Amino acid sequence: MVLLRVGIIKNLITSSQYRQMHLLKNLAYVNGEWAKAGSNVVYSIKNPADDSVIAEVPDMDASDAKCAIDAAANAFVTWRWTTAKERSRILRKWYDLCEQNTEELAKLVTAESGKPLAESRGEIAYGNSFLEWYADTARHINGEIIPSPWPNKHILMTRQPIGVVSVITPWNFPFAMITRKVGALMAAGCTCVVKPSEDTPLTALAAAELAEQAGVPKGIFNVITTSRKNAASVGKVLCEDHAVGCISFTGSTQVGKILYGLAANGIKKVALELGGNAPFIVFPSADIEHALDQAMLAKFRNNGQACVGANRFLIHEDVYDKFVKGMKDRISDRCVLGPGTKEGVTCGPLINLNQVKNVSKLVDEAISQGAKALIGGKVRKELGDKFYESTLLVNVKPSMSVFTNEVFGPVVSCVKFSTEEEVLKIANSTRSGLASYVFTKDLGQAFRMSTKLEFGMVGINDGLLSAAEPAFGGIKESGIGREGSKHGAEEYTELKYTLMSGLDK
Ligand code: ADP
Repeated sequence: MVLLRVGIIKNLITSSQYRQMHLLKNLAYVNGEWAKAGSNVVYSIKNPADDSVIAEVPDMDASDAKCAIDAAANAFVTWRWTTAKERSRILRKWYDLCEQNTEELAKLVTAESGKPLAESRGEIAYGNSFLEWYADTARHINGEIIPSPWPNKHILMTRQPIGVVSVITPWNFPFAMITRKVGALMAAGCTCVVKPSEDTPLTALAAAELAEQAGVPKGIFNVITTSRKNAASVGKVLCEDHAVGCISFTGSTQVGKILYGLAANGIKKVALELGGNAPFIVFPSADIEHALDQAMLAKFRNNGQACVGANRFLIHEDVYDKFVKGMKDRISDRCVLGPGTKEGVTCGPLINLNQVKNVSKLVDEAISQGAKALIGGKVRKELGDKFYESTLLVNVKPSMSVFTNEVFGPVVSCVKFSTEEEVLKIANSTRSGLASYVFTKDLGQAFRMSTKLEFGMVGINDGLLSAAEPAFGGIKESGIGREGSKHGAEEYTELKYTLMSGLDK
């Protein structure tokens, strides 16, 4: 790895729009220095809306990852002994700077992920809320003193930071998925190496720039950039190096399983946020207009590319026709497809052609098996090759792959049900268990659903449940561990038991 101390590099920026982004960096950030790959190789980051090159960043490999882990391990030696008050102060400063730079960060998110600017601003606010929350939580990561079964002996349980955390993040929330993990682990006294998605490393690098300005000491927050080609070899080092105490990953279940396997070699702790397949259940007692409005949020946020996005719409037969009509009207009125920077656009492009292929395949297959697209159902070619239309499918069977798979795109698939037992059976018939949504005014039913749905999170009469305060996470193949809340910071600690004895004489 070649370390350079440089400011903002402008020569690779292709348009005046990008040139104005003062947080745009094109080097990785390791040990408080801006760094090239040891190989000097770079790769391009493209705007999914028009394929323009935003920047070129280092294509780092396993040896670069090792250097970053060494830097984080070295920084851990001192960071772990800083006071919680000091860590809180630094996190608060970082939060303040991210807040002040919301607009710049949001522009970067839109440029590299394609989401509409208003949604990018929302993501920055959401991401910042974790830095703010963990600035506070840092001072409340407490141990326990437990009454001992023996006279004159004392049982102390203390929480100690786990060490270096390898953080691997996806492209759908390029900022918030980093702050949610890094805020928590820094509060706990850990250091980290972040490998952002190959599609969206620029927001991560901007966050590093602001961390540096906030006085985050060198080596605590390292960001290495890699193309997909190097992801597996870099991931192996990030999981297997002995200095790494925990692997914190958000992404697909498929990659999560690979990382879990690698972590097993060193009996490493893992925190995995994997795919979902959220049911969105509407009972007859629900306020249907409210359920429809919430469905729009739960489905079309980030154009359906969210792990908590509603995927399987289960609508009671008594309100099915009303719901479907309301959904069709709302999609026609509110879903405006186009580049994220264009005023009025609410749905941007999908992130890449792979995503377009996945979504198209699932919809085409459903239609060939008897489903009907009441609206949408194809790529809007005149806008570009990644603009998939907001789609409403009816005549869907629960066995169709558009229903059993996480679509990760702007597709509403509706299935009719008759009874509570039936809907619970369909909703729970998946290996995923992240978010679920239920709309009912029947209090007993709300509690029954909350208890019986096999998901880590249940939203009753609400389609957006993420925040810094509650614990976010899934069960079954949707993951292990929780993010946000005090539990999110505890993931990055070990509980140590000390027996105090023989001190009374
Ligand atoms: P998505 O479909 O959202 O891209 P992935 O699970 O494929 O989800 O990717 C999420 C993150 O995991 C990205 O940062 C990606 O580079 C990384 N990744 C993909 N494959 C591997 C791997 N074999 N080892 C480590 N990281 C990987």
